[in-house]
Amino acid sequence: MIVHCCHCRWCQRETGTAFALNALIEADRVALTQGEVEAVATPSLSGKGQKISRCPKCRIALWSNYAGAGDAVRFIRIGTLDEPDRFPPDIHIFTSSKQPWVVLPAGVPAVPEYYKSSEVWSKPSLERRAVLRSQRGRSP
Ligand SMILES: [Zn+2]
Repeated sequence: MIVHCCHCRWCQRETGTAFALNALIEADRVALTQGEVEAVATPSLSGKGQKISRCPKCRIALWSNYAGAGDAVRFIRIGTLDEPDRFPPDIHIFTSSKQPWVVLPAGVPAVPEYYKSSEVWSKPSLERRAVLRSQRGRSP
């Protein structure tokens, strides 16, 4: 639905680098083509925690589920995809803690912290979110 480039301190610490790159996608659109994942309960910025799904062998994080959206939306780590180049950021978030050497490209939205989905997401993505909300009976 959207690709976040998150510059928050938590993502910097979790990744050990300057930002995290996550694609938000409905869980039922994700197919695990081999193996399995292990969900590891991990603290998050909100304080509500997240579940990081990791490969049980190499321990690489494939996706996270956050308390806000629950299990319905996965935050897929772009760098783990076979074709990561296909998913550049749609928006840069938490740029208030962006590392100073990271230069953001012109023309890509950037916000100091978070944003309202209704103001940033494409119409098709908002429609997909509406489907999720109607399935869950609460906001993802
Ligand atoms: Zn973050």
